[in-house]
Amino acid sequence: MRVPMIAGNWKMNTTVSEAIELVNQMRRGLDEIADVDKVICPPFISLAAVRELIKGSSIKLGAQNIYFEEKGAYTGEISPLMLADLCEFVIIGHSERRHYFNESGEIVNKKIRAALKAGLKPILCIGERLEENEAGRTKEVLTEQLRSSLAGIDNLGGLIIAYEPVWAIGTGRAATGKQANETVGFIRQTISQKYGKRIAQDLRILYGGSVTAANTDEFMQQPEIDGALVGGASLKADQFLSIVRQTSEIKGESKRGEASLI
Ligand code: PEP
Repeated sequence: MRVPMIAGNWKMNTTVSEAIELVNQMRRGLDEIADVDKVICPPFISLAAVRELIKGSSIKLGAQNIYFEEKGAYTGEISPLMLADLCEFVIIGHSERRHYFNESGEIVNKKIRAALKAGLKPILCIGERLEENEAGRTKEVLTEQLRSSLAGIDNLGGLIIAYEPVWAIGTGRAATGKQANETVGFIRQTISQKYGKRIAQDLRILYGGSVTAANTDEFMQQPEIDGALVGGASLKADQFLSIVRQTSEIKGESKRGEASLI
C-alpha cells in the first residue's frame, strides 16, 4: 500500500529566522501524525537549521532544486552530494523552474538522474499549461514530460511524481478532485506501460495546485491521488497541519487496511 505524502514547497519565502519560527509552530503537531509522510522543503539557506530542528521527529526534509553536476566551477549551484548530506527529497521540474528558468526536459532528466545517483528521492513535477488543457492536449503534454524526464532511467528508486496543472499553481483555481484523479490515473497507466504494473502500483503520485485546508478532502478522497504538493498553504502552520491531519483521517493506516480487505 502506498503511504500518503504531503510535501510543503515554501518556494522563495522565509528568512532563516522565519523558517525556524514556522517549523517551531508546526513541528509538534506534524510529528503526532504518524501515518502520512510529511515533507517540508524550505529554501536552501534554511535546510541545515531546519534539519537540526526536526531531528528525532518524523518530519522529513526536502530541497526545491538541484544542479546535476557533482562539484566544480558552477558558481551559485547546489550539488546532489551537498543535498544528500542534508535532506531526503528534492523537487525537480517544478513549472516555475521550467518556465522562469527555461529548464528543458533534458535538464530535468539530468537532474533526476543526478538525484537518484546520490540517493535522493526526486519529486518530479509535471503538468500542462492552461492553453494546452483547453486545447485538449493534457495527456499528450504529460506523456512527453514523462518521456523526457525519465529517458534512460531504468530504476525509479524513491521517485515520486507530482501532477501540477500549471493553471492551478498559486492561482486559487484548483482542479476538481475528479479531474485530478483521472489525470493521475493516466500518469500511473503511462508509468505502467514503461516500468510494469507493480512499479506503477507502488509509485506515489501527488496532486499540486492551490491545495488548501478547505479543499484537501476533495483530493484525498480520490483513490489514485496519494497526497499533495502544497505551495502557499504550506507557509501557514495551521493550514498545513490541517491538510496533513485530513489526509491522515482519509487515507491513513486504518483506511488503507479497510481498503485492502475489500
Ligand atoms: C506548488 O508550488 O507546487 C504549488 C502547488 O503551489 P500552490 O499550492 O500555491 O498552488
